[in-house]
Amino acid sequence: MKKHDNGIQGFMGGRNGMDHLSRLLLYIALGIFALSVILRLWVLFILGGAVLGICIYRTLSKNLNQRYSENRVYLQLTKSARSSVHRFILRIKDKKTHRIFKCPNCSQKIRVPKGKGEILIKCPGCRIEFRENTGTASPKT
Ligand SMILES: [Zn+2]
Repeated sequence: MKKHDNGIQGFMGGRNGMDHLSRLLLYIALGIFALSVILRLWVLFILGGAVLGICIYRTLSKNLNQRYSENRVYLQLTKSARSSVHRFILRIKDKKTHRIFKCPNCSQKIRVPKGKGEILIKCPGCRIEFRENTGTASPKT
């Protein structure tokens, strides 16, 4: 039992471990490996190996300050891209439960729950009322 405790944790002690940047490098390496198999290009395989090598080097590195600042730069550079991906995923999830209607008067977008049949929507912008069909209610009553 004691031997097991000292195994991977003892080895990884004081090392950087998998951070966001290393995880990205791992995915890139796997993608390049897959491409090299599909395209039968050994040059790509070496490239994938190099990327994987950087990933392993960063994970096992004991220079925590350097690795931390690299990871922080990566997170800052990809901040807007990552948050727009996040918003995109949220919007897809939201599409299952809600619908967006446009006010016929002021074209403000109004978000209403799905599956309520035909409902009367009151525009919060111009106070006009209009009817829209939100779809039939789901059959689990
Ligand atoms: Zn309106």
